[in-house]
Amino acid sequence: MSEKILIVEDEPKLADLLRDYLKASRFDASILADGRDVVGWVKEHKPDLMLLDLMLPGMDGMDICKEIRTFSRLPIIMVTARIEEIDRVLGLELGADDYVCKPFSPREVVARVKAVLRRFHDGQTLQAKGLVLDAHRYRATLHGKDLDLTAVEFRLLQFLAEQAGRIYGRQQIMGNIYHDERFVSDRTVDSHIKKLRRKIESIDPEADFIQSVYGVGYKFEP
Ligand code: CA
Repeated sequence: MSEKILIVEDEPKLADLLRDYLKASRFDASILADGRDVVGWVKEHKPDLMLLDLMLPGMDGMDICKEIRTFSRLPIIMVTARIEEIDRVLGLELGADDYVCKPFSPREVVARVKAVLRRFHDGQTLQAKGLVLDAHRYRATLHGKDLDLTAVEFRLLQFLAEQAGRIYGRQQIMGNIYHDERFVSDRTVDSHIKKLRRKIESIDPEADFIQSVYGVGYKFEP
């Protein structure tokens, strides 16, 4: 089955060009031009990756990206002609996976799509002693049982697990899992960690993936 790519682009010629190149690489590509249609479409069709233009009629790419991130880790490549926006585009609070600048070569875009998908699948099949993270659905299972995580707990687990063994301070964790860290404190991180551990232990009392490092923070040990 070919992977589904959603192209969100209001310049028809550009959208068609991308679709043709993606189809030539055996992707199944769809086009939306109005920003307001995107979130609903994504929920219904569950694409594997989205190319998202920044300037769109209806709703801009930034807002779309933020909204998608409240329910999905769908890989998003932002497409922009505004070079000065790139820092914000890649800003952690927005959660885009990559970006492409206009004007672009469609060949380059296809290469980026493949690279982001590859990275995403590597992360998605992340497993440790029965733990499986499905980044697309924000779902984590342990020995086949759903851990029933909230979106924040999932992001927390995913963030730590992506670089197993690496120790993260609370500030780093907050910066990476919250869209707006002004509203959280160190204790918030601790409380999410506590809940996450409890959920893991309720399925496997022996599992201690998330370890505290005294005075520093937390790490994931597979
Ligand atoms: Ca545009």
